Amino acid sequence: MIVWEAHACLPLHPQADFAPIDRLRAAGVNYVSINIGMDMNPLSQVMSVIGGFRARIAEHPERYVLASGVDDVESAVTEGRLAIGFDLEGAMPLLDQPEMVALYRDLGVRQMHFAYNRNNSVAGGCHDAEQGLTPLGRRMVAAVNEAGVLMDCSHTGRRASLDIMAASTQPVIFSHSNPLALVEHGRNVTDEQIRACAATGGVVCVSGVSMFVGSREPTVDHVARHAAYVAELAGVEHAGIGLDISFIQPGVDDTPPGAFDAGYWWPRSAGYDRALQRSTYPPIDSWRVLSTALQATGMTPHEAALVMGGNMARVARSVWR
Ligand SMILES: [Zn+2]
Repeated sequence: MIVWEAHACLPLHPQADFAPIDRLRAAGVNYVSINIGMDMNPLSQVMSVIGGFRARIAEHPERYVLASGVDDVESAVTEGRLAIGFDLEGAMPLLDQPEMVALYRDLGVRQMHFAYNRNNSVAGGCHDAEQGLTPLGRRMVAAVNEAGVLMDCSHTGRRASLDIMAASTQPVIFSHSNPLALVEHGRNVTDEQIRACAATGGVVCVSGVSMFVGSREPTVDHVARHAAYVAELAGVEHAGIGLDISFIQPGVDDTPPGAFDAGYWWPRSAGYDRALQRSTYPPIDSWRVLSTALQATGMTPHEAALVMGGNMARVARSVWR
């Protein structure tokens, strides 16, 4: 079984401590996608984070490997190492240049979405006025397909996500999004979006973030219930896990430099309270028992293994280059 964590966050700082990532490895995770920047982060910060994280990975080849393909993930499973890829949350660090997609890929970025909660020149965000994919956005989708990077629709607005899924020639994922039918929140996705994702051959990975699973103290059972909803609606081949744990580290300040308005990116009107600082998550050790919790929803061990990572490995194998 491959255990695939589709999205996790360290402080966006080159000196971020990788201890939480090693805890994921100890918890049995085989692949993790780590965020290296969002629309609010200037290019200087994004590049410094990529440089720092690549160095952390290179310092411990016995623990980590920067994955360039699913073969690296499968080797990591047998070697007890953790394969890592990076993800970009928003198109603003692409500077309106589609050719930047391949550059990020060469630096280790394996998945990206186009809007972080707010609208930009490429696509609409989930906490903004409805806006579809722009003409530039269509070229960006083609660039992501061409570069062999996973197209991700989390944080994207409903209209834009449907446009992206219609335009993409490759399977599209939601790396950390939960069903709106279970919890009413602007970051959660409609049944229409979940079905459209499945129609591309993609996977909806559910998060464990308190406000998105609708519990102050999220547990493995909340996560399993959300994954089971996706599986029932769209098919078990289209459900996955992206807990989206933010490993905040005291003393490591990753506030974007310059004028920064947290209330713009995480609007209070959308239910955010002092950004995501008060979010809680299931414990990392959840990974050990998540498969059991999935089976408690009625899945067979094989189906649970697909949700734990088999589905994301299938999609990555067909998309990554
Ligand atoms: Zn996110």
